[in-house]
Amino acid sequence: MVSANTELAYNSKIEGDVVVSRADAVINWLRSSSLWPMPMGLACCGIELMAVGASRFDIARFGAEVMRFSPRQSDCMIVAGTVTYKMAPHVRRIYDQMAAPKWVIAMGACASSGGMYRSYATLQGVDRILPVDVYVSGCPPRPEALLDALIKMQAKVKREPSARGLLVRA
Ligand code: SF4
Repeated sequence: MVSANTELAYNSKIEGDVVVSRADAVINWLRSSSLWPMPMGLACCGIELMAVGASRFDIARFGAEVMRFSPRQSDCMIVAGTVTYKMAPHVRRIYDQMAAPKWVIAMGACASSGGMYRSYATLQGVDRILPVDVYVSGCPPRPEALLDALIKMQAKVKREPSARGLLVRA
């Protein structure tokens, strides 16, 4: 039995033992609580990304511990590291292979803006080839900063129309 005082994670009304909510709210609540990351570790930031999965920081607390190296099984790409022009087409191809709805976190200065690499070989931010949802500053960002980005991502997912999966993003 659900207590009348229980506050659920999704915006709902409880009348007796019946929970009333919107389908959008429920679907987005489920989605936000089970993001499956595609770990795109491209440089040193990738080490901090690995730390997030270990017991000290424990990304499982946020339901996102299921790192998938197959784009078919992931919905949140975490770009962690320097994106070179040589690598950029492959990053984009993997993003294209992910099923919608999908989201992107740019982790660290390099992924967000090219970082200190103002060079002919480095893409000046992965948002030149992908729609980035959340940026994480730092060189490298601490694991807590990535967890903070994940929480922001969850909040963003909860606000979106659940039919977003049907929409095509540029
Ligand atoms: S932001 Fe710093 S730590 Fe991260 S990939 Fe770039 S140089 Fe490495």
